[in-house]
Order: sequence, then structure tokens, then C-alpha cells
Amino acid sequence: MRNKSSSTCLFCKIISHELPSECLYEDDEILAFKDINPQAPFHVLLIPKIHISTLNDLGVENIDMAGKLFLTAKYLAASNNLEGYRVVVNTNQQGGQVVYHMHMHMLAGRQMKPGLG
Ligand code: AMP
Ligand code: ZN
Repeated sequence: MRNKSSSTCLFCKIISHELPSECLYEDDEILAFKDINPQAPFHVLLIPKIHISTLNDLGVENIDMAGKLFLTAKYLAASNNLEGYRVVVNTNQQGGQVVYHMHMHMLAGRQMKPGLG
């Protein structure tokens, strides 16, 4: 599903403030907030404010927003003095996706192994 806010979606509820989050960045299109179960000292989720279930549901009309997700990661890295970081978009069940509102994980603050080990 894309573009329609979903009343059952956890991250749509965070966007609408029905559920709390620790917000680090927000604009008209994007929200970035701390992951509730951090896998690194800095673990933030960057999400579009429109409901897009998975990366596979992204369309050409979402290109600007998708680009802004990356620029927001770059902004957060600079504003939090992160020397290096990793971004990941888990997609579908086999890709390890649990929450079906597309999101970019941003992990930093510990040494990452080269590759994806
Ligand atoms: P994924 O496995 O890629 O779907 O990741 C979903 C992420 O959402 C996990 O890292 C969870 O820890 C995180 N998460 C779930 N609920 C919340 C919440 N209420 N606030 C912040 N992060 C959450
Ligand atoms: Zn949603």
C-alpha cells in the first residue's frame, strides 16, 4: 500500500503523535526518530510521512522524497558529529522487515565490519 496513511500502522501513529517517539528531525516529508531497540549507540529510523509499505512500493513520484531521506541521513551525520555510519532498508519478510512502513535504519557510534558482517 502506498500514500494512504494507515490507521493500523505503527509508524503512521508515530507521525500523527498517537504514539511517542524521540524525534531528531522533521520536515513536511520526513521524520527521523530514535529506534526503540537500538543496535548501535546511534540508531535512528528515517521515514517518509506518507505511508509506503516497502521499498518495492516506491514510485517515480517519490523520487524527491527518497533523495531527501539520504540527504537527511547526511545532515544527521554532520549535526551529530558522526564520522561514519551505515544505512539499511530491510525489505519484505526475507529482508528482515518487521514494520511495513518503509524506513531507513541509520546506525553509527560503533565500528562496523567491512561488508555486511
Ligand atoms: P525492520 O525490522 O527493518 O522492520 O525494523 C523495525 C524497527 O522498528 C526495529 O529496529 C524496531 O526496534 C523499531 N521500532 C519498533 N517499534 C518502535 C517504536 N515504537 N519506536 C521506535 N522504533 C521502533
Ligand atoms: Zn504507515
